[in-house]
Amino acid sequence: MEITAAIAREPNKPFTVEKIQLDENIRDNEILVRVVAAGMCHTDIVCRDQYYPVPLPFVPGHEGSGVVEKVGKNITKVVPGDHVVLTFNFCGACPSCQEGEPGYCHELFGYNFGGARPGDGSGTMKKGDELIHGYFFSQSSFGDHAIATERNVVKVRKDAPLELLGPLGCGIQTGAGGVMNSLHPRAGSSIAVFGAGGVGLSAIMAAVVVGCTTIIAVDVKPGRLKLAKELGATHTIDASSGNPVEEIQKITGSGTNYSLETTALPAVLRQAVDCLTLRGVCGLIGAAPLGTEASLDMNSIMFGRSVRGIIEGDSVPDIFIPRMVDLFMQGRFPIDKLMKKYKLADINEAVADSEKGTAIKPILVMS
Ligand SMILES: [Zn+2]
Ligand SMILES: [Zn+2]
Repeated sequence: MEITAAIAREPNKPFTVEKIQLDENIRDNEILVRVVAAGMCHTDIVCRDQYYPVPLPFVPGHEGSGVVEKVGKNITKVVPGDHVVLTFNFCGACPSCQEGEPGYCHELFGYNFGGARPGDGSGTMKKGDELIHGYFFSQSSFGDHAIATERNVVKVRKDAPLELLGPLGCGIQTGAGGVMNSLHPRAGSSIAVFGAGGVGLSAIMAAVVVGCTTIIAVDVKPGRLKLAKELGATHTIDASSGNPVEEIQKITGSGTNYSLETTALPAVLRQAVDCLTLRGVCGLIGAAPLGTEASLDMNSIMFGRSVRGIIEGDSVPDIFIPRMVDLFMQGRFPIDKLMKKYKLADINEAVADSEKGTAIKPILVMS
């Protein structure tokens, strides 16, 4: 079938919006989804720019939301007409998947960055004779239709605004899950969030939901800090004018119980550890280029502090995504405040705005 999709053809070059063909013969474990909208995440851009070796040309998009159009023979989870959010994919059979930790699937790379069906390596997209790599996060949802699989399709309630739900599949799940699933702070505890982009702001909203009473947002962009405050941060620190660790010590006395690093900068990871009180936990979420090293004071870790990496907010998407939808519908998790809508054709404007910081979470709407 013919679809319109955004394609990453060359590193550091704008996306092109083109008409291409999507495989109509879906496999028994696949689901064809009419994409309503897709959030843009930093990972779409860094993959285009080849920080991670995703084969070019490919159709990015890994925060899709839409309506099920057709299901393969083996599908029992959804039926045509269901509203779904598309998330990351995983094998379901490795030790992590068996223990209910799909974010740490041993096959995560192949299932999300391979550019083809993980089983037989076949392609799903082409333009004439040219192979266009699809299956990015088993969805490639920067197009009006996407092929996904039973594992990475999550059914959501029909009274929720579908256009806004895609980012629950990655960026928002990563930030909110980092707090709710990974750190799970006790009510009344303190947390510092480094980086107030889409992931960091989602973490701040989650910290409000779980009852943290000191929520400190650290960033260098005043607009983001202002939004952090609106979303429930009790304190904001502009890291460009002073030492955030000292500021946090002043606010808390001995440091925070928890911190989250979302910027992928080694110097910021150091601050996120140094700002902790004894036995504090730092969650590392920011995805740095492979091989990036950071330094820590060994004595700081000695006193019960710890750092742990977190993928996709330790989420089991079928459980966590509907929970976030319910919180949103109750007005307790206002994800719409992060979002700015664009037409798919304006994707490069969305990238530019996101780099400038004038859009926190661009949503590409497929008319
Ligand atoms: Zn697995
Ligand atoms: Zn993402």
